[in-house]
Amino acid sequence: MLFGALEAGGTKMVLAIGNENGEILEQLSIPTETPEITMVKIIDYFNNKQIEALGIGSFGPIDLDRTSVTYGHITSTPKLAWVDYDIVGTLKQALQIPIGFDTDVNASALGEATWGIMKDVPSGIYITIGTGVGVGVYMNGSLLHGMLHPEAGHVLMSKHPEDHFEGVCPYHPNCFEGLASGPSIEKRWNKKAIELKDNQKVWEMEAYYIAQGIVNYILTLSPHKIVLGGGVMHQEQLFPLIRKEVVSLMNGYIKTPQMNDLDRYIVPASLQDNQGIMGCIQLAKLELEYTR
Ligand code: ADP
Ligand code: ZN
Repeated sequence: MLFGALEAGGTKMVLAIGNENGEILEQLSIPTETPEITMVKIIDYFNNKQIEALGIGSFGPIDLDRTSVTYGHITSTPKLAWVDYDIVGTLKQALQIPIGFDTDVNASALGEATWGIMKDVPSGIYITIGTGVGVGVYMNGSLLHGMLHPEAGHVLMSKHPEDHFEGVCPYHPNCFEGLASGPSIEKRWNKKAIELKDNQKVWEMEAYYIAQGIVNYILTLSPHKIVLGGGVMHQEQLFPLIRKEVVSLMNGYIKTPQMNDLDRYIVPASLQDNQGIMGCIQLAKLELEYTR
């Protein structure tokens, strides 16, 4: 059985065809321009591909409330051409198939929960540190939604005592995304993140913020596994620094087997950067089951 997968990002769209085992059979990436230009290309790609359903993991915020009149819309986004855009409605009308819809990070969490490192645990979170910071939450067999959906990349942080950078988030002077996303690293240190590899201070400060986020998520959500992905997490030296800082911030308060084995609790994404698109395949599969 074939499924379509669309990872809708602010800078690029990843389109793929996969099967029920999460195997990606073909994949294409196109830049995100205006909906008028980009949606035509997306529809062209998925038309005549014999897919049973499509799953979309989207940048956001998005409306995931099935009872809402704006269900399936991208709502407020800094990408102005896409504000209030009905992405699900447009694709449903063109393709006439069931369409699963969730946030890009929830899709990645679902990919890891279905086929990756979260497969054998009852709950987990997926944190991406890339152009933005986002968190997807998988709990008791489903993705967490609420009033909207978690926007945990914008949790507030205590500033590192030596950090005088004002952050890049237009909404918050001291949120996780504003202080620890790829663009914030590059603006603070005036260099591409990848070129800062050997600058220990950069990664200590980065780990200081990522660990604060993780401690807050452990305390509020109590996940069984914490998976970190996104471009910045390709700096693997971050992992030991993050684990050390988590221990220090938690200060012995929570005592579980996981907290005694952080090497297996706080881990890198396991699906070679395909966790998002594979999660979209699963979103498609689940939507087909939901509509039957
Ligand atoms: P997106 O978040 O747009 O989906 P990425 O997850 O690749 O894309 O994140 C892009 C950001 O990650 C950029 O700001 C870049 O600085 C940073 N980045 C990408 N690759 C690396 C790397 N190898 N090391 C450190 N930072 C990286
Ligand atoms: Zn913010």
